[in-house]
Amino acid sequence: MTLRVYNTLTGEKELFESVHPGEVGVYLCGPTVYKPAHIGHAVGPVIFDVIKSYLSFKGYKVTWVVNVTDVEDKLITEAEAQGRTVHDLARELEEKYINSLQALGIKAIDHMPRASEHIQEIIDHIQQLIDKDIAYAVDGDVYFDVTKDEDYGKLTNRKSEEQFSGTRDGLVQSAKRNPGDFALWKAAKSEEPDQVKYASPWGQGRPGWHIECSAMAMKYLGETFDIHGGGLDLKFPHHENEIAQAESATDCTFAKYWLHHGLTRFNTKKISKSDPEFEKIMASLQLTNLLSKYSPELLRFLILQSHYRSPIDFSEETLQSAKTGLNTFYRLLERLERTTGSDPYDIDSLVELQDAAVETAGKDFLEQVMTQRVRFLEVMDDDFNTAGAIGVLFEMAVSINRFLDETRLETRNDDRLRGLVEAAGGAFVFLGRLLGLFEARPITATMSDDSRSPKLVDLLVQVRKMAREAKQYAIGDHIRDELSKLGVTLEDRKDGTEWRIDS
Ligand SMILES: [Zn+2]
Repeated sequence: MTLRVYNTLTGEKELFESVHPGEVGVYLCGPTVYKPAHIGHAVGPVIFDVIKSYLSFKGYKVTWVVNVTDVEDKLITEAEAQGRTVHDLARELEEKYINSLQALGIKAIDHMPRASEHIQEIIDHIQQLIDKDIAYAVDGDVYFDVTKDEDYGKLTNRKSEEQFSGTRDGLVQSAKRNPGDFALWKAAKSEEPDQVKYASPWGQGRPGWHIECSAMAMKYLGETFDIHGGGLDLKFPHHENEIAQAESATDCTFAKYWLHHGLTRFNTKKISKSDPEFEKIMASLQLTNLLSKYSPELLRFLILQSHYRSPIDFSEETLQSAKTGLNTFYRLLERLERTTGSDPYDIDSLVELQDAAVETAGKDFLEQVMTQRVRFLEVMDDDFNTAGAIGVLFEMAVSINRFLDETRLETRNDDRLRGLVEAAGGAFVFLGRLLGLFEARPITATMSDDSRSPKLVDLLVQVRKMAREAKQYAIGDHIRDELSKLGVTLEDRKDGTEWRIDS
């Protein structure tokens, strides 16, 4: 089976062939740490975690890099507004972000380089471009001259200079030679904090955002590497400029395959700053907030239920449907455990499914599961189609459940058929783990994964309200205290009582 990936650079699904045999280098654009991370910041890491896991399963040694942008305009402004140092704010948000990623089961990132710790590499990269007369310095700023790069715009098919942002009129105010030229180095401004003033051959200043990524990608993965990823919103100008910088400096291909993932939508709508509810929506989508309410596996499952190139729809409905889907799987795993007496989470390799000497009843089942296993790998080979792969897991669950119904194995002794079911369950768990699912028993299964429990809490909240209205405060307090012992916290608001499960 051969892997094909959709390459944004060519607009086609291409056969995946690594630059170096047996090895794959992956770079994913990471966050600018100036505000708390939201679910959109987890989409790329979850998808690329699966991509790394699948490539590793196929035998590649994968090196995965996710950068942290900790020198940037927005960060400087935010730190000033909060009366804190840039360093302080950046480190705090970075730590929270990494904790959230770990909670989501993302543990396979090999390097998370910070821009502030790679200033020398960035300066060297800029110097290379100046030496080749592709970049120019003016009054402490350095710009990339887009007219010196023949294939500038190839990722997003921008051919003429007119399509670049800005106009010739704007040039009057600026030291740029062409409207499309972009900053590689920004001269320090007197009012900026000393922390973001770095010495360079062009005077004190700091790097532009685009050059940070191409410098760090090449440091950790070499001048040419396999996969560069990021959200669709980064194609232009960020990725276009990364390609221009790197390829003009080295005269060789920068990243062979460009993979772009879809953006997060809320209630099927694009999240827009002009939305009057914008701040509220962003607060509800904060990662730490979501992780306190939902299981990490549920969030991961929700993200992977869409194809990575499609928008990720986040809403009560999609969360509910993801919950229902995961529950189907959890119930199957419980049933497998009851039937076989062995722990379905305790597997470390893909169990071989042998079709030898299985009686007719088991033979059809075995064939089904073997076909589903092949099908799972085929859809993953087709541009990491995790949505299709989850679809195959549902088919497997149906087959296993049906076989258990037909054979009544839960109440009957048949070691051979039980062995067969155990192997099928093992294959199911193994394939799920390629997506980062079923790593461990669901921790919150007793509460958030049982559709009746939230309704029971709602009922208790309602009874407490009735008690309080009848001035039976002791009963109301008793309900609140007992729920608290069960890990359910009630919060009385102006418009009613809300509750949450403490993880
Ligand atoms: Zn980047």
